[in-house]
Amino acid sequence: MRKFIVFAFASLVIFACQQGPEKQEAIPANEFAIIIHGGAGTILKKNMTPEKEAAYNAKLEEAIKVGYEILKNGGTSGDAVIKTIQVMEESPLFNAGKGAVFTNAGTNELDASFMDGKTLNAGAIAGVKDIKSPIEAARKVMTDSEHVMLSGEGASTFAKEKGLEIVDPSYFYTERRFKSLERIRDREKTELDHDEKTSYFYDSDIKNAKFGTVGCVALDKDGNISAGTSTGGMTNKRWGRIGDAPIIGSGTYANNNTCGVSSTGWGEYFIRSQVAYDISAQMEYAGKSLKEATTDVIQNKLTKLGGTGGVVALDKNGNMSFEFNTAGMYRASMDDKGNLVVKIYKE
Ligand code: ASP
Repeated sequence: MRKFIVFAFASLVIFACQQGPEKQEAIPANEFAIIIHGGAGTILKKNMTPEKEAAYNAKLEEAIKVGYEILKNGGTSGDAVIKTIQVMEESPLFNAGKGAVFTNAGTNELDASFMDGKTLNAGAIAGVKDIKSPIEAARKVMTDSEHVMLSGEGASTFAKEKGLEIVDPSYFYTERRFKSLERIRDREKTELDHDEKTSYFYDSDIKNAKFGTVGCVALDKDGNISAGTSTGGMTNKRWGRIGDAPIIGSGTYANNNTCGVSSTGWGEYFIRSQVAYDISAQMEYAGKSLKEATTDVIQNKLTKLGGTGGVVALDKNGNMSFEFNTAGMYRASMDDKGNLVVKIYKE
């Protein structure tokens, strides 16, 4: 009898050990969750007024609550991502949609992408000048065409044919962004050093004005992850420059088996590092947690390369991560209990 009890106890211990990691995986942190960013950069408290800070916090909260309500009521992560991003696209505070930065030619050229983690299907648009909601157009490319990425006038024609709202390019104009372009152009004229990486690129005030993007990742009650990113790109860009935001794997990625990611930062480095896909791949192939993967990709790999920026990411169990190597990132998250986090600066 004693032998039997010892044997039964030992079997139980072995069984429990074998179940350990799987059990941990199976316990979701959140049944549904949502996380957003409004751009990363040299965002310092000393350069902010209390009014500006309050305006950013309020808009981030307004945007994320739109997505949260959709998820809470059983809606899809895709709808949550689109509706949340649209609030930020319509706000002049962020470099996406209205309020987008200006190109060297004084125009606004918008990029966006969307990915569905269940099907691994995706859509993107690049260099468009008249589509009111670039993120909606990106998802339309995914749902209503056999392509993944459309650009320029062709993308606008597609959007028109699909009945999306087209606006006069002046809709995107904001005085603040135009002044940023003028400041950079003036600085450029007086720069003696005209290397590929001119020093104005490293001036913190200007760098802050050059970048910005909005993004959102959501997990719905059905376990589906979606991610989206929308941007005006980089102030003073020329030659049809396209950043990482519309590139699947760089600016946006979603996979129900791993995670969803939306990036913001110096796009050229995010393209070279395949930031969003690398985070998913590290989880898939190296068995890393979301936190381990985002930390390695941003704090180690991207930083070593010289890139600046960050990501918001969320895994299949509803764990969430903000990761950036800049002074700040406009960001917010909400879990399934309605706990809201809104932050701007580094802790
Ligand atoms: N990543 C965007 C780009 O390079 C800009 C940003 O996120 O700040 O176009």
